[in-house]
Amino acid sequence: MALFRPSQRLASVTDIDLDALESAGIRGLLVDLDNTLLPRDTSVIPPAVEAWITSVSARFRVCLVSNNWHHRVQEVAGELGLPLVAKAIKPLPFAFIKAMRMLGLRRSQCAVIGDQLFTDVIGGNLLGTLTIMVDPLSHADLIHTLLLRRLEARIMKEDRATRAARQSKDATCE
Ligand SMILES: [Mg+2]
Repeated sequence: MALFRPSQRLASVTDIDLDALESAGIRGLLVDLDNTLLPRDTSVIPPAVEAWITSVSARFRVCLVSNNWHHRVQEVAGELGLPLVAKAIKPLPFAFIKAMRMLGLRRSQCAVIGDQLFTDVIGGNLLGTLTIMVDPLSHADLIHTLLLRRLEARIMKEDRATRAARQSKDATCE
């Protein structure tokens, strides 16, 4: 089901093809914080991710969109010099819409990047933006997130199986 399917599935934000995004007309990145840029089990941004943020900030308008409400996310956003929409209640669209307004961009010009199907991917798909799902930076997470990850893995596995079955059926019919 398209709602559960990211446009791209990558290991890390550092694997994103920025040239391809630019060519596709993407000008803004709405990026999740916890376990996408900042591992849940530390409060330090990995150096490779920090370098990535510096390079994308030079080419794209970037806004952090986080469901987190703790003061720490404000601090991290400040350290990174990035605007932030916190308490986002993703996958609801309001925070993404606010972030796009802050960046002065339309949804067709934005990509949502994050590590979770039920917040980032579904949120971006509901909104109609490009969605890029990355692997979580750490296995540590909130208990409800860990439970959702099991469901997430099951849904994505079934989606892959359904698509594979459809492709093989199409190949047989050709
Ligand atoms: Mg996350």
